[in-house]
Amino acid sequence: MSTIEIRGITKAFGPFVAVRDADLSVAAGEVVCLLGPSGCGKTTTLRMIAGLERATAGDIVIAGQRMNELSPQKRNIAMVFQFYALYPALTVGENIAMPLHREGIGKAEVAARVGKVADILHLRDVLDRMPGQVSEGEKQRVAVARAIVRDPNCFLFDEPLSRLDVELRHTMRGQIKAVLSNLSKATVIVTHDQLEALTMADRIAIMRDGMIEQVGSPHEVFAKPANVFVASFIGTPQMNLIDAELKGYGDGKATVTLDQQDVDLHVNPAVAALGPGRVTVGVRPRAFTVVPQDTAGTIDAVTELIEPMGAETLIHARTNAGGDIRVVVQRDRKVKIGEPLHLIPDPMQTHIFAADGKAVRA
Ligand code: ATP
Repeated sequence: MSTIEIRGITKAFGPFVAVRDADLSVAAGEVVCLLGPSGCGKTTTLRMIAGLERATAGDIVIAGQRMNELSPQKRNIAMVFQFYALYPALTVGENIAMPLHREGIGKAEVAARVGKVADILHLRDVLDRMPGQVSEGEKQRVAVARAIVRDPNCFLFDEPLSRLDVELRHTMRGQIKAVLSNLSKATVIVTHDQLEALTMADRIAIMRDGMIEQVGSPHEVFAKPANVFVASFIGTPQMNLIDAELKGYGDGKATVTLDQQDVDLHVNPAVAALGPGRVTVGVRPRAFTVVPQDTAGTIDAVTELIEPMGAETLIHARTNAGGDIRVVVQRDRKVKIGEPLHLIPDPMQTHIFAADGKAVRA
C-alpha cells in the first residue's frame, strides 16, 4: 500500500529546530498539503520524507517500511520540484522516459508507459518536440509525467505551480488533482498558497514555527480552526479577531464585552466550561449582517476604506473602541466612507478562542 507516516519527526540545524515533533499520516490515494508561512518547516519536512535531509528524531514510514536510514533512491519516491529541469537536448518523450531508462526497462515497455502518461497529461501531441518548443504549462506537465511514469511508492511535490502565471496555475491545479485522484498513491504537496491547498488537498496540515498546528479537510480548517493562528491564516479576507471579555454563559448564549458593550453570542456550549476572562472572538468578514440601527448586540463601526472585489465589496471599518474590522457585503449594497455600520455576527459562524489561543469547542 502506498502510504506515508511520519511519527514525531524533528529536524535540528545546530541549535535551531526547523521541525518539531511532527506527526502525519497520508493514506493511499490521499493528497495532503503542507501549508504555512515562509520558514515554517514545510520543505524540511518534505525533504526528510524524501531522504534528502536526515531526521534528528522520529520515524519515517513509507509503504509500511521504516525508511530513516535509506537513501532517496531506495525510497522509491517521485518528487516534483518548483525548479524542475528538463533535458533541453532530449525530446519531451525522451524526457518522460528518462527514469525508465535508468531502471533498464525494455524499449517496448518504455514506449507503452510513456504513451499512457502522455495520454493522462494531454501531452501526446508534443512528445516529439524539444522542451524549448512547448509552453510553460506543458513543461510543468512533462515534469509531472516524468514523476508518475515509474511506479513509485508515493509522490512529493514542492511548490509545483509557483513558477506559473495565475491563470495557468488555476488550470494546472485541477489537472494535477485529477491525475492524482486516479493513481491511488499517497501524495504530499508543499505550498504557501492557501488557494492551492484548499483546492488540491484532501487534507491540509497547517504548520507554524516547525510545528503542525492542525490537520483537517479544507472545510474543517476553514470552518473549525483549532486556534487563532489557523483562523487568521486560512480564509480571505482574513478572519476578524477581536479582543473581548467573556462575562458568562447561559441559555445557549455567551455574554461578552466586545467593543465596550455587552453582546450576546450564540456560541458552542463548550464555552460554558470557560470561566470569565479574556477571550478572542473570531468572525469572518462574510459572517456579519449589516442592520440599519444601533441596537443591543450590534458592533458599531465607521467605514474607513472601501475595496471593490467584483461581486462583493470589502469594507475596512473602525469600531467605536478603536479596533479594525473587515466586513464583506454584496456589491449592490451602497457604502460611503464615514458611514456608520451596525453589525450583527452570525451566531453559527462566531468562534471563541481561549486566552491560550485555542478554539473552544465541544
Ligand atoms: P518557504 O515557504 O520559504 O520555502 P519553508 O516552510 O519550506 O519555507 P524550510 O525551508 O523548511 O521552510 O525552512 C525552515 C527553517 O529552517 C527556516 O528558518 C530555514 O531558514 C531553516 N533551514 C532550512 N534549511 C536549513 C539548513 N540547511 N541550515 C540551517 N537552517 C536551515
